[in-house]
Amino acid sequence: MAFSVIYSPVFLEHKPENYHPENPERLLRAVQALKNLGLWDPIEPQPVPEEELLRVHSKEYVELVRGRGGAFSYLDPDTYVSPGTWEAALTAFGASRLAVELTLERKGLYLALVRPPGHHAGKSGRAFNAPTLGFCIFNNATYAAKVAEELSGKVLVIDFDAHHGNGTQEILWDDPNAVHIDLHEHDIYPWSGYEHEVGGKGAEGTKINVPMPHYSGDDFIYAWNEVVLPVLAEFKPRLVVVSAGFDGFLGENLTTLRLSELFFAYAGSTLSRYPLAVIFEGGYSVGLEKGLPAFIKGYLSGEIREVPVSPSYEALRTVTRVREVIGQWWDI
Ligand SMILES: [Zn+2]
Repeated sequence: MAFSVIYSPVFLEHKPENYHPENPERLLRAVQALKNLGLWDPIEPQPVPEEELLRVHSKEYVELVRGRGGAFSYLDPDTYVSPGTWEAALTAFGASRLAVELTLERKGLYLALVRPPGHHAGKSGRAFNAPTLGFCIFNNATYAAKVAEELSGKVLVIDFDAHHGNGTQEILWDDPNAVHIDLHEHDIYPWSGYEHEVGGKGAEGTKINVPMPHYSGDDFIYAWNEVVLPVLAEFKPRLVVVSAGFDGFLGENLTTLRLSELFFAYAGSTLSRYPLAVIFEGGYSVGLEKGLPAFIKGYLSGEIREVPVSPSYEALRTVTRVREVIGQWWDI
């Protein structure tokens, strides 16, 4: 099965002045994990022209970020801009576009291993009621979704980062051709992603949120089986964009989630019949060393192993509520 990583050292040039969890070391950890798998033969992406940013962001926001590029500063208490940010961000868009193009052309999995991350970035910065941009600058996954729509008419985005992809949801809110399914821990940053958030007028039912309880582990497999797989089978996209965050892995300690290799391998294996453009989001330590390789290996193996799951009572209730809400639009 075709597989490549799309990566540029330019992504390391978006960097903090002092310690910050979103730092270049993250990518080096991911690179090492892929090297350990014998899967390191990267393709170098090119930056997109600046106008491409306007396909998902407002002119004011793009100008704000570009204007900050000369020196190090903070856009908000979480999110910094450094002199290397602008070039890294345009190249991250280039990588996201290339992932979609190669995926459609050759099938298989193309991983845009990019920084800065993107799924919290809304049209004009902070999305919905989020207090900050949550380390994100421009929304790479949404740009990938727009390119996929342009090339294939419709797209399905799955976001399994521990946090809700609020920027992605905001940008795709009124788009009936973009289904966005988001599994995340509820009641944490960015304080959105509840089951009743279903999309704007004319696009109702295309935004699907699965707000999982605190301390969820392989309960995610249950939600995957009950929500993600049936919607995928019904929608039949030509390709899937994955907003791939590994910060829900046990030991990442950014949230209370306790995901293991079991979930990531299962998620990968069940997607193996779809061409996949994977856009890198969160993941700061052990999730990169274990979750990322498990997902890739699961996909490449193409073997779906039934995993027995016994979801918690809270997880069962959550998934039942989600199915009740989206059952208006989906045969679920
Ligand atoms: Zn996250």
